[in-house]
Amino acid sequence: MKVPFLDLQPQYVGLRDEILSAITRVCDSQQFILGPEVEQFEAECAATIGVRHAIGVSSGTDALLVALMALGIGSGDEVIVPAFSFFATAGSVARLGARPVFVDVDPTTLMMEADAVSPLIGSRTRAIVPVHLFGLCADMAPLMALATRTGLAVVEDAAQGIGATYRGRSAGALGTIGCFSFFPTKNLGAFGEAGLVTTEDPALAARLRLLRNHGAERRYHHREVGGNFRLDALQAAVLRVKLPHVARWNDDRRANAAAYGGLFAEAGLDGAVSRPVEPEGRLHTFHQYVVRVPARDRVRAHLHTREVGSEIYYPVPLDRQECFAPWRPPAEGCPVAQSAAADVLALPIFPGLTREQQEWVVASLAEVVG
Ligand SMILES: *Cc1c(COP(=O)(O)O)cnc(C)c1O
Repeated sequence: MKVPFLDLQPQYVGLRDEILSAITRVCDSQQFILGPEVEQFEAECAATIGVRHAIGVSSGTDALLVALMALGIGSGDEVIVPAFSFFATAGSVARLGARPVFVDVDPTTLMMEADAVSPLIGSRTRAIVPVHLFGLCADMAPLMALATRTGLAVVEDAAQGIGATYRGRSAGALGTIGCFSFFPTKNLGAFGEAGLVTTEDPALAARLRLLRNHGAERRYHHREVGGNFRLDALQAAVLRVKLPHVARWNDDRRANAAAYGGLFAEAGLDGAVSRPVEPEGRLHTFHQYVVRVPARDRVRAHLHTREVGSEIYYPVPLDRQECFAPWRPPAEGCPVAQSAAADVLALPIFPGLTREQQEWVVASLAEVVG
């Protein structure tokens, strides 16, 4: 049996006709940048996420960049980011001339925790960027309390977090600004690059809209230096078809995660393979199903021989990236991120994965682990 790491076909086939007619609608309108399709997508996202303002942008990376720009972050500023995330979480800070300050992550959730952030806050600190890693919200209540106490902005990196909730509220509605990615492999995926920023603050929303479009409200009259962070209408049209199905796809992912739990137990893998946690009050959407396993590279090679796809998120912690060498933390750095980088393994979890495929994944794992 063959188990791809990710197969987007099952979610595409059911919506094919609807998606193609949405694309045709945009082609017939010949309006490709921003416009009504984008505005309607923004309104639908705002309603789904439960936030006042949603602004479509060109990617998740640009969402982070424009969010930090809107907060006025630049040269001389520090922004606290987790040492274990996708590159863009820290890259967006560095691109503005600010310094990413890496905080080690919690050993059970692999996410930023308020207690670890607190001692890193100094006179130059302007913001913190919790990442809702793999589809689980970071522990936001203590982070928000800390940020309020110290006057910091909180930029949620919700690129992996669409549909995830924390005490009943959605990712993207918890911090000062929320940043989403609709990269094709995310839980809500475009047919190209796309992203979104969210906020409750009307002044920030206005600033985000301005910066998205070269800082110009009126064409060729630039109030500020922004960028081209616009969302295009074709992506918005595709995303509008998919958005109403995200909750169901997330439920499928959760059901697959639960099935893995049962299969691991049956196969006696519970000691050797550590499974993802779902703390009380947080709904995990399993953007990725990441286990931790000793001799990870050997295990992965074995899965490959059984035609089981897997991935490593992430093989190198951010504080160990070559480009961030000048900002590397002192001494031992971020040991938890370092050890996670050595033993994390993401298994297939996509909606449409079959029970038989999951059994094959676990049987293949059991051949090499234990
Ligand atoms: C995907 C991702 C991004 C970047 O999104 P793009 O749309 O690929 O630019 C940022 N942060 C995290 C945590 C991500 O997973």
